[in-house]
Amino acid sequence: MLGTRFSLHLSRRAAALVGLAVALPALFLAGLGIFLTLRVARAIENDSIRYDTYIALQVGEAFEQELMAGLRRSIALAENAARGGGPPSQVVAALRAETGRFIAAEFVPVEDLTGYSLLIVESQPLVYAPHPRAGSGAYFAGLLLRDGQGQVVGAGGWWLNPRRFLTEHLDAVLQDRLPANPRLYGGFESTRKLSVQLLDPEGEEIGRLHDPGISKSARTEPLSGPFERFSVRVSPTASSPVVWATNFVALEITFIGLLGLAIVLATVFGLRYTVRQLKLAQIKAAFVSNITHELKTPIALIRLAVETLEMRRVNTPAEYEKFLATIGRETLRLSQLVDNVLDFARLEAGRRPFRFEAVDLLDVVRDALDSFRPRLEHLGFRVSLELPESLPPVRGDATALSHCLLNLLDNAVKYSKQLREIAVSAGTRGVPGDPGSVVTVAVTDRGIGIAPEDQKRVFEKFVRLETGLVHDVKGAGLGLSLVDQIIRAHGGRVELQSEPGAGSTFTIVLPVAGGVAETPVEPRRMAAS
Ligand code: ADP
Repeated sequence: MLGTRFSLHLSRRAAALVGLAVALPALFLAGLGIFLTLRVARAIENDSIRYDTYIALQVGEAFEQELMAGLRRSIALAENAARGGGPPSQVVAALRAETGRFIAAEFVPVEDLTGYSLLIVESQPLVYAPHPRAGSGAYFAGLLLRDGQGQVVGAGGWWLNPRRFLTEHLDAVLQDRLPANPRLYGGFESTRKLSVQLLDPEGEEIGRLHDPGISKSARTEPLSGPFERFSVRVSPTASSPVVWATNFVALEITFIGLLGLAIVLATVFGLRYTVRQLKLAQIKAAFVSNITHELKTPIALIRLAVETLEMRRVNTPAEYEKFLATIGRETLRLSQLVDNVLDFARLEAGRRPFRFEAVDLLDVVRDALDSFRPRLEHLGFRVSLELPESLPPVRGDATALSHCLLNLLDNAVKYSKQLREIAVSAGTRGVPGDPGSVVTVAVTDRGIGIAPEDQKRVFEKFVRLETGLVHDVKGAGLGLSLVDQIIRAHGGRVELQSEPGAGSTFTIVLPVAGGVAETPVEPRRMAAS
């Protein structure tokens, strides 16, 4: 048994090692897969961020170019007036004539240009300044005007509403000017997968091209020149590759994670199954060895007695009786053992037929004690009986019930040490006539007892407790599991009160005939000590 436990321990360790050898690389590979996926996704995203920033800057420039083109179209008259050396009023008149979509014309003489800003658009200076009245939102935008000698005389231009300009020119800028930009990488095609939003100083959208998809790569860049308080936000659309890639990454990580989990779970279950099979194989081996041991002793005793009798080595009738008693006692032990194994096999296969009839448990108790008495007397046990005059009948199989009692008596004998006292009692619980009332038969010993934490386990198949006696006392760990199964098949239960060192009482509790519900026998869980 010790060897079995040791090899079971070893095979568990081997299984754990195999499990680690499979699960760790699987987890490592899954982790690596997730790591690489995240890195690729990060690289794609960074690329997209760079591209979105670049496009945002291009959009800003395109608006400036659009404004510059508008100014250049309208300034020709004023340029001529300035070049001709006419007075400022003439220049202003020329500007006014072209006010068109702007708010109002304005000529700023060169000496008043301090405080105005310059922005170079397509190598041309664009003069701009916000309206001195705070909150108007209007901006001056103009070009430098020169006299006949090429000297700057001032800036001529118009007041404009940047918000209106931006919204009115949004389509032209984004659909014509931007894609036509030769510096735009990817040209028109690239803008199809981009969403461009114009944002006012409060960050509210004032216009857009394409709806943005959900992506971390969206970029917002401030515009410059007369549009300096506005900004442009560029992000990929839902159909752009980067959004696809982001969604795909989430899917792939989930997939890799699930795959890793599946591998680990499969390994754990596979190994648990293997350990269980190993355990079963070891239980079988231990069972065969236990049974063989248990069979050997009575066979040897019977052979010895038979040989002695055959050789007529007995001198007195008393001796003759003694050998006969040995043969009887050991035969009973053998048949009890064989019954146990057969019953076990039949119960396991669900083929143990019970012949239910009204049974008087007092008869069963007396018969079992009678057949067991030679063994009890031989081993020097004192048996005290506490039986009532009569007991209500139970519905059951007398042979199976007697078998249970013999198993309990056998255990009481096996697990007693110096105090060789066994008490057998019977009685009833509950109101007579009540269908809930029960008949009880208890076997009490003053043996080694069973620890509270083991009291449930002893009813499991093949369980033999690691007490000091397990190596001295023969057994296959089947007796109590059979008792439990048989009594449960009778609609009853087995109760156990025990205290280590003080002794145990096993009580069979069976319903009084009439209230018996036949319950099918459910094989108990397999376990080994
Ligand atoms: P076994 O063939 O080992 O006796 P059983 O199923 O009859 O198998 O009992 C299972 C285990 O329960 C025993 O190995 C023993 O450790 C414990 N046991 C059973 N009956 C007693 C008892 N009367 N006193 C102490 N321990 C007991």
